[in-house]
Amino acid sequence: MIEVSKKCIGCNKCVPVCPFAAINMIDKKAVMNEACTLCGACVQVCPVQAITITREEGASRDLSGYKGVWVYVELSETGDNACASAASKASGHQAANHPKKIKQVTFELLSAGRRLADELGEELCAVLMTEKDHGYEKELGAYGADKVYMVEHDELFEYNTDIFSTVMVSLVTRHKPSVILYGATIQGRDLAPRVASTLYVGLTADCTALAIKDGLLLQSRPAFGGNIMADILAPNSRPQMATVRPNVMKLGEPVHGRSALVVRESAKLDKSLRRVKVLERKIDHGSATVRIENANIIVSGGRGMKTKEKFKQLEELSKLLGGVVGASRAAVDLGFKEKTHQVGQSGTTVSPKLYLSFGISGAVQHIVGMKASDVIVAVNKDPNAPIFNVAKYGIVGDINEIVPKLIEALKKRK
Ligand SMILES: Cc1cc2nc3c(=O)[nH]c(=O)nc-3n(C[C@H](O)[C@H](O)[C@H](O)COP(=O)(O)OP(=O)(O)OC[C@H]3O[C@@H](n4cnc5c(N)ncnc54)[C@H](O)[C@@H]3O)c2cc1C
Repeated sequence: MIEVSKKCIGCNKCVPVCPFAAINMIDKKAVMNEACTLCGACVQVCPVQAITITREEGASRDLSGYKGVWVYVELSETGDNACASAASKASGHQAANHPKKIKQVTFELLSAGRRLADELGEELCAVLMTEKDHGYEKELGAYGADKVYMVEHDELFEYNTDIFSTVMVSLVTRHKPSVILYGATIQGRDLAPRVASTLYVGLTADCTALAIKDGLLLQSRPAFGGNIMADILAPNSRPQMATVRPNVMKLGEPVHGRSALVVRESAKLDKSLRRVKVLERKIDHGSATVRIENANIIVSGGRGMKTKEKFKQLEELSKLLGGVVGASRAAVDLGFKEKTHQVGQSGTTVSPKLYLSFGISGAVQHIVGMKASDVIVAVNKDPNAPIFNVAKYGIVGDINEIVPKLIEALKKRK
């Protein structure tokens, strides 16, 4: 319920920020009409705190009308692998010249969402906010979306917290989805909490597994430093919302030609909603070239490599294999490699075709970040090292002998 108290001074500030045209100024007092979604935009701008929103207690709400699994579609100007221009002025709509690409995490979430939607017997929908449609629905359909809610608007030319969360909240209010999944990316980690706080619903960050239990979304994630797995349910609020890191969910096979129904949605957006303006965007070439997130081959080293000098052998090995170097947190803490190379819970989650591990024990916080790799090869002198539990091929031996031999053998083959 939304209420306007006697404190209202009729200043009119709330009227233009309401994305749903739900406020009229009558006798110098703000009056909300039935279009109000309780999004809270007016509460934030009221200079005299005259507007209050009271929400129903979760347990007493009827949640039966909430249906469907939604996936937030993340677009990227550079794609997942590209090293974009070093610095670009983000002052205009220059992105329109190059169609943005759908980030791979979106397809991973659609693959997971398809499974959840089938189990619930509900629709899988993709939510796309864009300045211009470039036929994205074909790819979204191929990865399992039944429907694409498409919002096309000039103000959606680049990601902006206020604008995107306003659109998302209005779509949720209109269509009442049961589940929404976001990538645990810079964008998803910014958008999902804003939507959650506006709708007053829960959000589970960095889920490593999703399932359906008694009709609810079972959200699993490491807790207490990764020492336990927590299973989280949100029985009293909708939508149930989760973020998932890239490379955690297995990518399904696209079914080309499978189409999704496009539902075009309008949005009343105005520049005044945009409280943050991006003046300049800089991409650091140093870290952009690392991109362990999307590498096919990763040669990773841990504390067992002993010194920074010895760690350099892994650079040589990875070059010969056409891969990139990864590191355990211990190796990063010891200064063997920069943080951008760290694999694991507090680093990057990876799923290469080949993951080679040298002198890494296999702590749970490391394993959660690389266990989705297709083939894991581990070298460790300790036969009981936990890394062998996830490795397809294990070599019990000394890395000081094995790494140079591998380098030698690969050089001979070249
Ligand atoms: C909240 C939290 C978040 C964390 N996040 C991460 C994370 O993102 N990524 C991560 O990696 N860790 C993370 N950790 C740390 C994690 O718990 C471990 O401490 C870390 O992964 C250990 O790194 P390591 O395997 O390189 O070192 P160690 O556990 O010390 O293992 C070294 C291994 O090298 C082997 N070895 C030694 N010498 C040789 C040799 N000559 N030949 C062959 N093998 C040899 C040893 O047998 C041993 O198994 C996190 C911890 C916490 C609490």
